[in-house]
Amino acid sequence: MRCVNLCSLLCLLACINPAVAAVPLAHGAVDLQLRWHHQFQFAGYYAAVEKGYYREEGLEVRLHAGDPEHQPVQEVLSGRAQYAEGNSEVLYQRLQGKPLVALAAIFQHSPSVLLVRKDTGITTAQDLIGKKVMLMNGANDADFMTMLQNEGIALAQVNILPSSYNFEDLISGKVDAFNSYLTNEPYFLQQRNIPYHIIDPSNYLVDFYSDILFTSEAELNNHPRRVEAMRRATLKGWRYAMDHPGEIINLLLNKYRVEKTRQHLEFEAAAMRNLIFPDLIEIGHMNPARWQHMADTFVKAGLVKSGYSLDGFIYDASPRHLPQWVAPFIISALMVIVLISMVTYFLLRVNRRLAIAESRLRSANEDLSSRLAEIGELNQRIHEQAIRDPLTGLYNRRYLDEMLEREISRAKRDGYRISLAMIDLDHFKNVNDTYGHQVGDLVLQTLGKLLLQHAREGDIACRYGGEEFVLVLPRLPVEHAFHRAEEWRQAFAGESTHHGELEIVCTMSVGLAAYPDHAASASVLIRMADEALYRAKTAGRNRTEIAEQGE
Ligand code: GH3
Ligand code: MG
Ligand code: MG
Repeated sequence: MRCVNLCSLLCLLACINPAVAAVPLAHGAVDLQLRWHHQFQFAGYYAAVEKGYYREEGLEVRLHAGDPEHQPVQEVLSGRAQYAEGNSEVLYQRLQGKPLVALAAIFQHSPSVLLVRKDTGITTAQDLIGKKVMLMNGANDADFMTMLQNEGIALAQVNILPSSYNFEDLISGKVDAFNSYLTNEPYFLQQRNIPYHIIDPSNYLVDFYSDILFTSEAELNNHPRRVEAMRRATLKGWRYAMDHPGEIINLLLNKYRVEKTRQHLEFEAAAMRNLIFPDLIEIGHMNPARWQHMADTFVKAGLVKSGYSLDGFIYDASPRHLPQWVAPFIISALMVIVLISMVTYFLLRVNRRLAIAESRLRSANEDLSSRLAEIGELNQRIHEQAIRDPLTGLYNRRYLDEMLEREISRAKRDGYRISLAMIDLDHFKNVNDTYGHQVGDLVLQTLGKLLLQHAREGDIACRYGGEEFVLVLPRLPVEHAFHRAEEWRQAFAGESTHHGELEIVCTMSVGLAAYPDHAASASVLIRMADEALYRAKTAGRNRTEIAEQGE
């Protein structure tokens, strides 16, 4: 009751103290089954609880003292405890297929020995032949069985009795050897001044780990971080306990229901130092070869078949987590890669679209250019049609009007002369009347062709209307124009138009006028040429007349 009250009080204090209460229990509460009654053997666990190492790791650990009904392996396998401290039975059960995982070997050597009274004369394993030896049972005795085997002693040669758990049986001489704990029973013999001798399997090539912190595979799979935290806090507790045994003894005496006296606990603490070697070996250290040695011992003792596997049994205490900077680094790197990929993808897409757009634009451009070229041709044709006479192919009167004004302006500016010839077919009405309008057209075409043949660069030859034609001859004085007009007139008179059997010969009259000789403007120039033409007609036709000087 005293302990319960004390515990309640401590819990209450922990709740009141905001600093303690504020620590979040990330891993929750777990149960840890100890192998036996509270004693110094489990010092590290009390220290871890007491010094707050479990709480620092986000754990609440409930320690449970052991007794024959609460054995570590069974408690863990049943799930009543997630963690426990056990002996070589942990390995034995694992090799029997039980899902157990060893987290840390607290005792580097097993405290399990045979105690004999000195007066029996027994000093070695060999001396056990024919003697009464009290052992536990089965797998718990693998170390002793193998020790005997290693000494070439058959089990039948020794009188093995099941343990009565009553130490008095050794003292009274009921048995010769008693399975004991180095850390415990020798104390009683010392107290009673009974000389004794220890037969330790480690002296017979059997060296077992003991007081092993273990858990189940399920716990490790489901709560790997909790397992890690549990192991770390426990080993920290052990370190503290080994450095401050007196403090733990006080704790055991004051807080836990211990059966042992202070002296007994001190004896235990001192004996444990030789099994844990806290100054030489990192507490909890596990060497796979040692585990294999233990498993081989089981095989030798006939408890386990050879060909066993230790896979998954020995906890890998190397850091399971990458350094803290790795995850953010990898995430950032991945983000950068994703970003670069996205930008690249985006740029490639844009590029592709640009290329497509460019090629479309180019083809559209080409299309447009060819259409423009077509339009240009068309335009030219339209323009040609607008300025040409369709029958003769010469320029029309509209074009003449336009060009003559322009030519006169240029001539005015550049100071040159322009001659203008006006031509009219003689008695053309007769041609039409005699041969028909169609033949008349042919005659008009004959003259058109002739005028084009005789035209020089810069000359503008047009059909002025009906059977009248005008030729503008820039930079040509009227006297020269006269000669050229005469050439045309004579050539035309000598030319005949053929229509079937018909040969039509026609003549023409020409009136000449010049700028600036006879006129200063286009309209006057035409009128002057027309008057000259009229004179040619009245003078008998088929001739050329020059306008009279001045208006
Ligand atoms: P003149 O010697 O006095 O000039 O006598 P002419 O018969 O030529 O008289 P005029 O110049 O007055 O007559 C012109 C004729 O030309 C009238 C018309 O029938 C004819 N003509 C005008 N344009 C065309 C045309 O495009 N085709 C044809 N076949 N005849 C036309
Ligand atoms: Mg006429
Ligand atoms: Mg005429």
